[in-house]
Amino acid sequence: MRKDCAKSFMYRKMGISEEVLAFASEVEKELKPRFEKIDETAEYNQAKVLYAMQKNRLSEAHFASSTGYGYNDLGRDTLESVYADTFHTETALVRPQIICGTQALALALASNLHPGDELLSPVGKPYDTLEEVIGIRESMGSLKEYGVSYRQVDLTENGGFDWEGIRAAIGEKTKLITIQRSRGYDARPTLSVEQIGELIAFVKSIKPDVICMVDNCYGEFVERIEPSDVGADMTVGSLIKNPGGGLAPCGGYIAGKTECIERAARRLTSPGLGKEVGASLGVNRSLFQGFFLAPTVTAGALKGAIYAANLYERLGFPVNPGGSDPRFDIIQAVECGSAEALCSFCEGIQAAAPVDSYVRPEPWDMPGYDDQVIMAAGAFVQGSSIELSADGPLKPPYRVFFQGGLTWYHAKFGILMSLQKMAEKNLIKLV
Ligand SMILES: *Cc1c(COP(=O)(O)O)cnc(C)c1O
Repeated sequence: MRKDCAKSFMYRKMGISEEVLAFASEVEKELKPRFEKIDETAEYNQAKVLYAMQKNRLSEAHFASSTGYGYNDLGRDTLESVYADTFHTETALVRPQIICGTQALALALASNLHPGDELLSPVGKPYDTLEEVIGIRESMGSLKEYGVSYRQVDLTENGGFDWEGIRAAIGEKTKLITIQRSRGYDARPTLSVEQIGELIAFVKSIKPDVICMVDNCYGEFVERIEPSDVGADMTVGSLIKNPGGGLAPCGGYIAGKTECIERAARRLTSPGLGKEVGASLGVNRSLFQGFFLAPTVTAGALKGAIYAANLYERLGFPVNPGGSDPRFDIIQAVECGSAEALCSFCEGIQAAAPVDSYVRPEPWDMPGYDDQVIMAAGAFVQGSSIELSADGPLKPPYRVFFQGGLTWYHAKFGILMSLQKMAEKNLIKLV
């Protein structure tokens, strides 16, 4: 009881009203059993990462930096073994020289597809940034420009796989299929790893030698298994999302079959050099330590998403996923219903940040978007979306996407602050 008072004293001091706290604490109580399940998953995944680090005899020497060519960078090679052992793959490419998730995906695709090959997405339109990579939107240097064709089979209306459509789309030219686990910022559902496994098994039953790549962004450590456990030949993601644990300053990874990864390494560096080069420039320790923390960081972000879904659902806002829906990634969408509410939500997230909390986010004209966009982020690492962040375009239904939180307590505080900003403008009625 006394502890509870102390906690609300700090929250009151930081600007959260008694009413908001009372309303939110009711909802939080109901989420306890759900949060316990998330903690169990985190505990399992923590052991999985720890086991991989012990197996690879991680030691102080691996935190040393390298420069120039980066020959014999033991830390870099060990980090890649730790990733491979955690994802249960033959090998992995984990590099700060891979700028972000988009580059990791572009690299995996460009290195494993040749002119005349066809790429198939059996799960609908891929993430926005991949449109130019593939050439869905004309772009200099796209796969299309290099003679790689693209085909897409959309999900069915209820979000399932169009089995017959997929069967019909797999042809002689089909070389690689790309499966996006997370919904990203689309309306489609996020896929569970089990569903991804069914899809891969189906595709391989039709064409056994097709390469199956999974865009794993936002999905790592949400479940106990990863796409690489259910047949994916390449599992790809960004280190400024889940697996970086908030500590990785940049980077991307591809874990999978030796042949696929070796091709990616040779594309990243050059034929003949492959994985043997690449200075780690002092980031090894952060990448190891971030990966070590990633299971619990992901759990915190996941709790935040569920907490927000339940609070806003209770207040009558359409939320996706719904408050009690199962979760396979850390993204939460809330339909704010008005520009004012969307901006208030983002103001709250910003005001709760450890960095740049004093600035007020404003809608702006962002390149590539038709409508103005508002973004809230006060992160230690620029653009990091495992840190608490929110954004949305200023158009009906004024949907905000938010994700991250390096700790559950910070995610919680951000959401409380968003409620507070809404309450101050009479945009919500606390019941
Ligand atoms: C974030 C994301 C990407 C791209 O990653 P960046 O690091 O932003 O380049 C690709 N696919 C999905 C599903 C994502 O969420």
